Amino acid sequence: MHFKVLAEFFGKIEKVSSRLKMTDLLAELFEKADSDGIAKVIYLFQGQLAPAFEQVEIGMGEKFVEEAIAKASGYTREEVHKAYKEKGDLGLVAEQLLGKKKQKSLFSAELSVEKVFRNLMKIATSEGQGSQQLKIKLLAELLNSASPIEARYIVRIPLGKMRLGIGDPTIMDAFALNLLPEAKKGKKLVKEVKAELKEKKPEKRKEEEERKLRAKVREMIEGKYNVHSDLGSIAEKLKKHGLDGLKNVEIRPGVPIRPTLAERLPTAREIVEKLGKCAVEAKYDGFRLAVHKDGSRVSIFSRRQENVTEMFPEVAEAVRKQVKAEKAIFEGEALAFNEETGEYYPFQVTIQRKRKYDVGKMAKEFPLTLFCFDVLYEDGKNLMQLPFKERREKLEKLIGKGKTIVLTDSIITDDPKKIEKYFDESVEKGLEGIIAKDLEAPYIAGARKFAWIKLKRSYRSELSDTIDTVVIGYFKGRGQRTKFGLGALLTAVYDEKEDRFKSIAKIGTGMSEQQLADLHKMLSKSKQKKKPARVDSELEPDSWVEPRHVIEVNADEITKSPMHTAAREKGKEGLALRFPRMVKIRQDKKPEQATTVKEVAAMFKRQKHVKTGE
Ligand code: ATP
Repeated sequence: MHFKVLAEFFGKIEKVSSRLKMTDLLAELFEKADSDGIAKVIYLFQGQLAPAFEQVEIGMGEKFVEEAIAKASGYTREEVHKAYKEKGDLGLVAEQLLGKKKQKSLFSAELSVEKVFRNLMKIATSEGQGSQQLKIKLLAELLNSASPIEARYIVRIPLGKMRLGIGDPTIMDAFALNLLPEAKKGKKLVKEVKAELKEKKPEKRKEEEERKLRAKVREMIEGKYNVHSDLGSIAEKLKKHGLDGLKNVEIRPGVPIRPTLAERLPTAREIVEKLGKCAVEAKYDGFRLAVHKDGSRVSIFSRRQENVTEMFPEVAEAVRKQVKAEKAIFEGEALAFNEETGEYYPFQVTIQRKRKYDVGKMAKEFPLTLFCFDVLYEDGKNLMQLPFKERREKLEKLIGKGKTIVLTDSIITDDPKKIEKYFDESVEKGLEGIIAKDLEAPYIAGARKFAWIKLKRSYRSELSDTIDTVVIGYFKGRGQRTKFGLGALLTAVYDEKEDRFKSIAKIGTGMSEQQLADLHKMLSKSKQKKKPARVDSELEPDSWVEPRHVIEVNADEITKSPMHTAAREKGKEGLALRFPRMVKIRQDKKPEQATTVKEVAAMFKRQKHVKTGE
C-alpha cells in the first residue's frame, strides 16, 4: 500500500469527531489494505510499530526531528525551530516546509507503508555510538520522498503524537463492519441471531438482525483480542481467512492475556447471597504479574501488559526452578515480604521494585514473593474454560516447593461470619481485604464479572471503593501553588461503549508539594493545545493533556452534577465526586483500564440504596 493513501486517511480521520464516521473511514481503509500490510497499518493507528508487549520504542527527541526536517527541506535548524514555536506541532511544520522545499531532492521515490515502517523500525532499534545521526538520516530519507501530508504523519509517529483519537474498540468496530457481508452468509451465526430477535415488524427485523450480527462479530473479535493482545496479527488473519481466521488465534506463552477483574460488594452476607459456597482469598496489595513460561524462556507481564521481566530477576529465576511444566501461564500478586518478621511491606515499599535501574540491588534488599492465584494454560492446554476449583487444583500441582513463588492463602466457606473473621484477620496482617471467587466460574479475560468479588478495607470508609480516574487536564496553581505550575487536576472515567473519557472530578487535594511538582513535570510532557479527541468535558482546564495517566481517587460520595459529563444522558445531569482527593498515581493501569462510567453509575445506585436503607 502507498503510504500516501494511509496518510490521506489519517488526515480525514483527524478531521472528524463522530465515532460512526471514524468507523466508516477505518472500514474503508481496511478494505483497501492488503493482508501483508494490514498489521503495520493497525500498529500505526495504535501509535506503535509492534504489539505493545514487544516494547519497541520509536521515541525520537524533538531536536533530532527538527534536524531531519531541516535536512530534507533545505531550511536551517533555526528556521525549523522558529516555525515550531509558531505552530506548536512539528508535523504541521514538516508539512508546510516540505511543501515549499528550498532544495530539490535527488533520490525521491514513492513511499510505501513497508518502506516507512522499515525506516521507523531501524530508528527504534538503533542504539549506541552514532545512532542519533543515523536516526536523523533515516527520518530525513523518508521526508525527502514524502509529499506534505505524508510528512505530517512521518514526523508525528516517532514523536508519539499521532492524536487520531482512535482506540482499539473503534478498530474492532470497523473490522466487524467489514466482515458483516461474510457473517450474513454464515448459517449458524444467522440462526443464532434470529433466535434472539425481539422485533416483530418485518422491516425493523432486518435492521435488528444486522445490528445483532455485527455485535456478534465484534464480540468474537474482542474475545480473541482478550486472550491474544496483538490486534495487528488478528487483523492479518481476518484479512487472509475472513472470520475463519479467528480460529487460528490461540493463547500462547509470550503473548499477554487481558486480566479478569473483580466486582465489588459491601458485605460478606451479600457475597454469600451471590456466590453461595465460595473460595475466599487474602487480597494482597502489591502488583499483579502474569507469568509466561516457555521452556527456559520466562516473560513477566504487568497488569497493563508491559513486559516487566527485567525488573524481577528473582521471580524469573524461581519460575525456572519451581514451576513443574514446560509451558505455563499463571497469575499472582507480587509484594515485598519480610520473611524474618513475617510481615508484608506496605505498597510504597513494593512499588520501589518497579524500576529499570539498580534492579539487582533492590532485588536483594526487598525480594518479592509472588502469591499465585490462577492458572490459564499448561503444556499446550488452554485451561481458561475450566471451573475455578479445578484450575486451583492444577495450580497447586504446578507450583513446586520454594520461597519465592507460593499460593495465595485461601478458605472455602458459605458462612458470612467466617468470611468476616477471615477479612478481619487479613486486614490485621496489613493486607487489603479479601477476594471471594466463584468456584464454578471460568476465567473471563478482560471482563469485570461476579466471578471475583472484592471486599476491601477502604469500603468501610466513605465511598464503597476508590475510583481510578484519567487525567485529562490541569489548572494552574493559585496563591501558594503558583510555584508548582499546577494546582488541580481535571479527571475523567472511561466510557467503554463510546470509547471516550468523560469528566468526573476536579481534584486539588491529597497531593504533597513534591507530588504537585512531579505531576506538573509528568503532565507537561503530554500537554495539548486543543481538547484531545477522545475527551468529553465541558469544564475547560488551563491545559489539556492527552489521556494517559491514571490517578486513584477517594471521595465522600458520588453526586449528580450539571458540570460533569460522566454517565450523562441527553438533557440530564452527569455524575461527579464529592470532596475528591488523590490517593496515588496508578502506573500499572492504562487509561482504558480506569474505572468505567458503568461502574460509577452502579456505585451511585448502590450508594442511594444504602442511604435509603433499601
Ligand atoms: P481492578 O483490578 O478490579 O480493576 P484494581 O486494580 O484497583 O481494580 P483491586 O481493586 O485492588 O484492583 O482488585 C483486584 C486486584 O487485586 C487484582 O487485579 C490483583 O492485582 C489483586 N489481588 C490481590 N490478591 C488477589 C487474589 N488473591 N486474587 C486475585 N487478585 C488479587
